[in-house]
Amino acid sequence: MKIDFANLQKAYQEHKQAIDQIMEDVVSSSRFIMGQEVVDLEKALQNYTGAKYAITCSSGTDALLLAMMALNIKPGDEIITTPFTFIATAETIAFLGAVPVFVDIDSLTYNIDVDLVEEKITAKTKVIMPVSLYGQTSEMDELNELAMKHSLVVIEDAAQSFGATYKNIKSCNLSTVGCTSFFPAKPLGCFGDGGALFTNDESLANKIKSMRVHGQTQRYIHKYVGMGGRLDTLQAAILLVKLKHYDKDVERRQTVAKQYNELLKDHISIPFIKNHNTSVWAQYSIRVKERDNVQRWLKEKGIPTAVHYPKPLHLQECFEYLGYKRGDFPISEKISSEIMSLPMNPYLTEEEVFYITKELKELI
Ligand SMILES: *Cc1c(COP(=O)(O)O)cnc(C)c1O
Repeated sequence: MKIDFANLQKAYQEHKQAIDQIMEDVVSSSRFIMGQEVVDLEKALQNYTGAKYAITCSSGTDALLLAMMALNIKPGDEIITTPFTFIATAETIAFLGAVPVFVDIDSLTYNIDVDLVEEKITAKTKVIMPVSLYGQTSEMDELNELAMKHSLVVIEDAAQSFGATYKNIKSCNLSTVGCTSFFPAKPLGCFGDGGALFTNDESLANKIKSMRVHGQTQRYIHKYVGMGGRLDTLQAAILLVKLKHYDKDVERRQTVAKQYNELLKDHISIPFIKNHNTSVWAQYSIRVKERDNVQRWLKEKGIPTAVHYPKPLHLQECFEYLGYKRGDFPISEKISSEIMSLPMNPYLTEEEVFYITKELKELI
């Protein structure tokens, strides 16, 4: 059997007619930049998340940048986040000259350990930036309360969790700003780079919109130093089609995850989803000893795997200047040495999941 990890081909084939049609419409109208589809998508994203404002942009990375730029993050400001995430979370902080202050993760959810956050708050702290890893949000009530108490804001890095819920509220709409990504392999992916920001704060929304187009308020009138950070009309059009079917995709991912859980729970530590959360299963990640061997074995059986993420950010060369060392975040370090993601997409069949787990169980 040959298993597809994310199956982007199938995601296109399933809605090929509608996607081809809307792409043709955009191309023939030549409204490549800020066309009607961008406006329509932003409205649809607001409806979907419940956030008052959705602002699309060029990528998840740029969403994080735009959020911090709009919040006036300056060199030397401190932003509390997790070292067990994709580089973009901390990279964008550092890019603005601000300082990523890492806090270790919870050993069950792999999200930031909220009990360790307050002791890291200093006079320079401006933002708490939790990451909703693998499709599940952090303890947002606790983080928002801490932020309130210390006059901080919370930016949710929701690049992996669009569509997830926390106490029945959608991810992206759980704090001052939520940032998501439409990178092709994310749960809701476009055909290139794309992202969005979400907020309920009107003045912040207006500033983000301006920042996205070179800080302009009118054409060639620039109030802020911004960036070229718009989402292409073509990508917006594709997302409009895919968003219509997104709930079904999420349901299928949840079904696949449930099958994995059933077949693996007596053999291995399966992902832990809190009762008040639903996950969109950006990844289905388990922990294994001798990961290299397991990956090699599965690859021989036609089963691709991936590691999200093999090296926590405090140990990356680019962050050497922050002065962290091995041992500073033991849980992140341990999990990063054991974590492994199995194929996850809406199209995996019961038979395929059975095959994957059968081959895996041969080894553990
Ligand atoms: C993918 C991802 C990003 C960056 O999104 P891009 O659209 O690839 O720029 C940021 N944070 C996390 C946690 C991600 O998984």
